[in-house]
Amino acid sequence: MEHFYTLQGEGKHAGKAAYFIRLAGCDIGCHWCDVKESWDASPYPTFTANELADFVLKTNANLVVITGGEPAMYNLEELTAVLRANSIQVNIETSGAYPITGIFDWICVSPKKFKEPLAEALKMANELKIIVYNKHDFIWAKTFEKQITEQCLKLLQPEWDQSNKVNSIIVDFIKNNPEWQLSLQTHKYLNIP
Ligand code: SF4
Repeated sequence: MEHFYTLQGEGKHAGKAAYFIRLAGCDIGCHWCDVKESWDASPYPTFTANELADFVLKTNANLVVITGGEPAMYNLEELTAVLRANSIQVNIETSGAYPITGIFDWICVSPKKFKEPLAEALKMANELKIIVYNKHDFIWAKTFEKQITEQCLKLLQPEWDQSNKVNSIIVDFIKNNPEWQLSLQTHKYLNIP
């Protein structure tokens, strides 16, 4: 759908320069999705893995974030291999609803209620990122605690348009459950992509 060089705004790698490759196509259907234009892949061009790597290598990027849409709908073995062969760190952001293919340096699984994540994806996650839309999402977040590894980071991130309502309850929740951490969409505060 698009590719651009910016800063990673959220999660463990927030603040790092990152080349984003946003793959079009998603059937998860989150009603609060901020990239609904990614759902239908048909209007967008296709590129080979080498063409995508060439875009990245024209910049100083040493980190690529593959996102979507739902990027795990695609076989990512070739793309991740080409990027890693060029010494690029490769991260993915996925809902976990599809098997994750390819080799990644960091896997962020952000489950969505509209299509449950696969157990195998949760086990692979380096970072579990729950988007908090309302207070019921804390109960939902805790249901994943036994499905991830001990090393997996547990992040709560306010849904951008609800942040006025949920920020304070996220802070309270984290104070009571310090194994969870806050993730903010800092790119939105900075007004960068
Ligand atoms: Fe949007 Fe991501 Fe949900 Fe797909 S999984 S609908 S891209 S928020």
